[in-house]
Amino acid sequence: MPELSKRTEGFTDSVIRRMTRISDAYGAVNLSQGFPDFDPPKEIMKELQRAALEGPHQYAITYGAKNFRDALARKQEHFSGVAVDPEKEIVVTCGSTEAMMAAMMAVTNPGDKVIIFSPFYENYGADTILTGAEPIYVPLVPPAFTFDGNVLEDAFKQGAKALILCNPSNPCGKVFTREELTLIADLAIKYDAFVITDEVYEHIIYEPYKHVYMSAIKGMKDRTIICSSLSKTYSITGWRLGYVIANEQVIERVKKVHDFLTVGAAAPLMEAACVGLNFEDTYYKELQAHYTHMKTLFTNGLDQIGLNYSDPQGAYYVLVDISEYGYTSDLKFCEDLARKVKVGAVPGSSFFKENVNNYIRFHFAKQDTTLKEALERLENMNRIMKK
Ligand code: GLN
Repeated sequence: MPELSKRTEGFTDSVIRRMTRISDAYGAVNLSQGFPDFDPPKEIMKELQRAALEGPHQYAITYGAKNFRDALARKQEHFSGVAVDPEKEIVVTCGSTEAMMAAMMAVTNPGDKVIIFSPFYENYGADTILTGAEPIYVPLVPPAFTFDGNVLEDAFKQGAKALILCNPSNPCGKVFTREELTLIADLAIKYDAFVITDEVYEHIIYEPYKHVYMSAIKGMKDRTIICSSLSKTYSITGWRLGYVIANEQVIERVKKVHDFLTVGAAAPLMEAACVGLNFEDTYYKELQAHYTHMKTLFTNGLDQIGLNYSDPQGAYYVLVDISEYGYTSDLKFCEDLARKVKVGAVPGSSFFKENVNNYIRFHFAKQDTTLKEALERLENMNRIMKK
């Protein structure tokens, strides 16, 4: 057989998605890969039913159906306060996974440096390998996941083309403050770099924290490349609807990359999801209340079991400290946890650049019954897992 590509040689599969397969194999309650086990809003499902019968079923405009982009531009302006031109400043993609890849392809050349906060969502590492960009990791230091402005400036000084900002952060649940965003923005402006955001959890925030959009920070509208999606906001992770929002020149490039990568997102799904983009503010308040309920249920349970974890400010993950279990491999811990305790988690090491292996990540976007079942099983964790 001819040689396969060097570029993909060092790839592992996604540990997040592998843990779903492992959880399923052992009949574990799957709190690894983050996705809800409850339904999307009824209105969206009904519109999907209508779209199934009435269409559209053929290609939409490659960068997104017009009604979807119009609705998205309105929603984005409503929440961020920054106007978006639906014709020139949006590309609808197949999930924010494609959005991030297309954004990276559009702005980096092989060898360009890209700053990534660690811990990070595991796709970013793969994105840099596929584009040939070189990551510079800047630690978010546990337990508060703060960063050192001087370390960040040193990273920019190395000539970084862009910084990837996952806010709210997966996996650590950090919500960047306005002051932190301003510090990052000032450096991006000073060193002439883009900020590529991943804001898929923008509506999953816990009181008293607030999501501040990087694009709304002074001087950042034209430097920010927003990647986000409808997956988490409307509980439709399987629909693969994401988007890039950026200035016209960047979007011109992203449109081309996207056109050749995937042609376009699914037309009937865009049609149905428009209903969600047009929801009133009450929808987002209820979503927040629902997630606050799930977080409280789950973290109260962890408290009762006596586990140490990072209390998230946003997103739907907790990092649980497993130091006291005496494992040297968090991957092995997660495999044992799925097999023996029958709860699925993701090893923290898949998110950290540093040699950190004392965390595992659970997500709690689940029905009460699922979370209670997981907590009941986790009550046995100390007995079964302690060495
Ligand atoms: N964001 C989810 C997680 O971190 C998974 C997303 C995906 O698998 N595409 O678990």
